[in-house]
Amino acid sequence: ELPAFDYTPQPYAGPSADEIFAKRREYLSPSIFHFYKTPLNAVEGKRQYLFDEKGRRYLDAFGGIATVSCGHCHPDVVAAIVEQTKRLQHSTVLYLNHAIADFAEALSSKLPGNLKVAFFTNSGTEANELAILIARLYTGSHDIISVRNSYHGNAAGTMGATAQSIWKYNVAQSGVHHAMNADPYRGLFGSDGEKYARDVKEIINFGTTGNVAAFISEAIQGVGGIVELAPGYLPAAYKIVRKSGGLCIADEVQSGFARTGSHFWGFEAQGVVPDIVTMAKGIGNGIPLGAVVTTPEIAKVLTRRSYFNTFGGNPVCTAAGLAVLKVIEKEKLQENAFVVGSYLKDRLNALKDKYELIGDVRGRGMMLGVELVTDRELKTPAQDETFHVMDQMKELGVLIGKGGYYGNVFRITPPLCFTKEDADFLVDAMDYTLSR
Ligand code: PMP
Repeated sequence: ELPAFDYTPQPYAGPSADEIFAKRREYLSPSIFHFYKTPLNAVEGKRQYLFDEKGRRYLDAFGGIATVSCGHCHPDVVAAIVEQTKRLQHSTVLYLNHAIADFAEALSSKLPGNLKVAFFTNSGTEANELAILIARLYTGSHDIISVRNSYHGNAAGTMGATAQSIWKYNVAQSGVHHAMNADPYRGLFGSDGEKYARDVKEIINFGTTGNVAAFISEAIQGVGGIVELAPGYLPAAYKIVRKSGGLCIADEVQSGFARTGSHFWGFEAQGVVPDIVTMAKGIGNGIPLGAVVTTPEIAKVLTRRSYFNTFGGNPVCTAAGLAVLKVIEKEKLQENAFVVGSYLKDRLNALKDKYELIGDVRGRGMMLGVELVTDRELKTPAQDETFHVMDQMKELGVLIGKGGYYGNVFRITPPLCFTKEDADFLVDAMDYTLSR
């Protein structure tokens, strides 16, 4: 049972979608126009819903790319932000604030092992950049191994670790190696994770011997199209990497903070304990906030001389982060993600039985993927259809994301407060669209 919530939007007198997108298009990044034929002007968000300028309600089943964890404008998070904003909006280096310590301590309490020391950033990209820097400083080595089809960010280092060609822009990458994609649906070895992990060993033995700083991976690839790494992959890969002196980084930017329902962190499903965990997105519920958490021993490599950033650990953001954590606990959102996520996955699987176009349904909790194919046996990606279904579902009032190597996977990553009724609404909208 989730708390009662007022879903009525406030009156809106601002510009319309047409005024913003048609008349001022030349000022805007083309990527805004990538998904929908007519862009959506979201003027208000309430939990799992967004409203456009006409007061039309949309079910936000993409959750701002798995970011709006406890729901748009959750009152507890808003209250924490407002209260902190009135007191102190910025602190760094010379003066501290309790909010940063409160949140760092709370994060550590959610992590296994001796993962204790937090460094704060403003995004997932920055968190991964910092994790790579820490690993390089700690090991004295340079090379990074990531898993093909992964996404770790879009700055110089993370763009190298990101192992999907469409995000790379041919930027030169030195010392970055991409291990075989451990995808049970499209991979060679089905769900035998240990077999895929042998590729990590090959890279170490034949490519970068003695020079591996870190292995970085998502437990469930998000941008890559909701690909859960084959079971057994992470334990095997971690063992190989550690034997060669490298550190293991878990990128929990999407799969962390209760999203998968079964666990608080995605890596826990494979029973590993990373050396460094990175997080962002859902930890701030939409406020720019990222973090790197590692052990005190590893954290020592970042002395005061070697690392500062201006906004990391900003009190407004960390106050929001702490409020998010409290909401997840108070409203039992991890349990909700598990129960509703399992229900939604079952219903999507029933759709798969009905429509040949659906080749695969996968993921956990509130991190689900639906892959569209024009030929099930050959797994031929269905591209135009993917855009069409997304657009039609938007017209029916449901927003879903898309990704995957071929761009043919729906990404369903709603706020964790998604209900069974929401799940039904989404599946019915998809059913209706596919039946046309
Ligand atoms: N890691 C993962 C797993 C992500 O999904 C993303 C963003 N999609 C990032 C890192 C980068 O985060 P940000 O966009 O906040 O820089």
